[in-house]
Amino acid sequence: MLYLDNSATTPILPEVKDKMITYLTEEYGNPSGKYYDLAINAEAAVKDARKQLSKLLNSDEKEVIFTSGATESNNIVLKGVAQYYSSQGKHIITSKAEHSAVLEVCEYLEESGFEVTYLDVDQFGRINSKDLKKAIRQDTILVSIIWGNNELGSLNDIKAIASVCHEKGVFLHTDATQVIGKIPINWQEIEGLSFLSCSAHKMHGPKGVGALTIRKDRYGKLIPLTPLFHGGGQEEGIRSGTYSVHNIVGMGEAARIANNNLEKNKKHLKLLEDKLIEILTNKFSENITLNSDSKNKIPGVINVRFIGLNNEVLLKKLSPLIAASTGSACSSAKPSHVLQAIGLNLKEVRESIRFSFSPYTNIEDVNIFKEL
Ligand code: PMP
Repeated sequence: MLYLDNSATTPILPEVKDKMITYLTEEYGNPSGKYYDLAINAEAAVKDARKQLSKLLNSDEKEVIFTSGATESNNIVLKGVAQYYSSQGKHIITSKAEHSAVLEVCEYLEESGFEVTYLDVDQFGRINSKDLKKAIRQDTILVSIIWGNNELGSLNDIKAIASVCHEKGVFLHTDATQVIGKIPINWQEIEGLSFLSCSAHKMHGPKGVGALTIRKDRYGKLIPLTPLFHGGGQEEGIRSGTYSVHNIVGMGEAARIANNNLEKNKKHLKLLEDKLIEILTNKFSENITLNSDSKNKIPGVINVRFIGLNNEVLLKKLSPLIAASTGSACSSAKPSHVLQAIGLNLKEVRESIRFSFSPYTNIEDVNIFKEL
């Protein structure tokens, strides 16, 4: 079976699994203990994982906070900033093409008295930074814009968005879950970016672990926010709870491997994507169209509309041979809000399928599409 749903999740790499097993078995110490080797070793392992992730992001190690995944990271930022800065304003800006882990939090905040502006997106799901500039008000406390769209793969121009936010003095958060390990990220360079969420399981790491990167000021202090969890004060008090050492170690190893192979993987993913598009175009000619853009996108993610075919029927038919999806795994019961935001009607949404490759997909395996 050819697995082409890597935007939903990825299998863990053997090196990741081996490292994790060590910390699930013999190295079981709590990193917060200080006096014996088991604790000291676990602490060193968490420190190394933090270093690997900060290398991938080009951030300072101190800016990386481990969480249970991108859903939690997004919740910490949106709710934490809302609560901490509510006396300065109650207005938040996001886009119509965000993941539900941002949109649902925004809806919750609206119920709690905050006002949210949902920016329109273009035909590929990107916001326009001029629209953002116009939408920022005196009482805006946070802007949250996805970096790489999970259904279309389109990249927002985070640098341009960050410079608008910097100029206006508003915090910017980005959900970078789909882009880490796939495109170069230079956190140090994007000064106006205050928060970045990511997850391990989209880059061949384990599920149930992610991170939130928070900008530190020149004195080394992280941007303050109200934590979701109160407790033992781990992770600078932003994320209390005993460290999930095996998961964190797995994330660090996945980040290390992704970082070492970034350029090679990008090229391979582009080849895979081009090959699939070529085969589908030859086979279906005018009966398919691409919802995703061909440039400024995450390599290896394409969204295709099979005109006149129902996506669920097609996916079930393909399923013994090919695993793909209609879009976001997190809200597959509902027709995609992202595809609707780019202007597709419900019929068109129901004809659309996302294929997402892994850098470990074998190029010969794509030939299976010729036999359909
Ligand atoms: N944001 C985006 C863009 C995603 O694709 C996902 C995973 N589908 C999430 C957030 C949620 O991540 P996690 O599974 O780590 O909570």
